[in-house]
Amino acid sequence: MKQKVMIDLDETIVMDGYLKAVNDYKHTNYVASDIDTYYVEDILGDEKEKFLDYFYEHINIYSGIETLEGALDTIRDLCKVYDVYICAAFVDPRRVLESKVMAMYKYEWIVKNMPFIEPKKIILGGSKDIIMCDIKIDDKVANLKSGYGKVKLLLDHKHNQKYSFEDLNSLGIRRVYNWEQIRSILLEGEGNL
Ligand SMILES: [Mg+2]
Repeated sequence: MKQKVMIDLDETIVMDGYLKAVNDYKHTNYVASDIDTYYVEDILGDEKEKFLDYFYEHINIYSGIETLEGALDTIRDLCKVYDVYICAAFVDPRRVLESKVMAMYKYEWIVKNMPFIEPKKIILGGSKDIIMCDIKIDDKVANLKSGYGKVKLLLDHKHNQKYSFEDLNSLGIRRVYNWEQIRSILLEGEGNL
């Protein structure tokens, strides 16, 4: 039986959508390395609520969003060897009702840009830590923390750099820096899978 792989969407496959929305709103030029919070809009301080109103009413960050280099090619190749699921959270606890549109945007982007993923293997939800998979790839430590998953790869981003090697090691999580490295671990045997 093929091993099951769960792959996150935001900041794991696609990149900087929320950052672009904040920059467009504020007419700023922040880059990813400027942001050390999980929610980019936390940098807006008192303006955050106004931004969220605007965001959920007008913005689809997946329209023209960038992808991380090598992500789509690697996932296409992973599908030949593994049972691959794309698992994206869309529930924004700050805007429970408004965030329903994110499920539609994410689903549309995945279907259009990842034809090698069977639609029934797109999982949209609120909590990822209960999902049982052999291999998990995400940029958020909380999504990798549970006991499920024998290989847990954390895509390096400024917001997760507060976790030391020892912190991650105690949770069975390995930090990776790009999709070339993920390919090497999962497809070229570096991880002895
Ligand atoms: Mg993510």
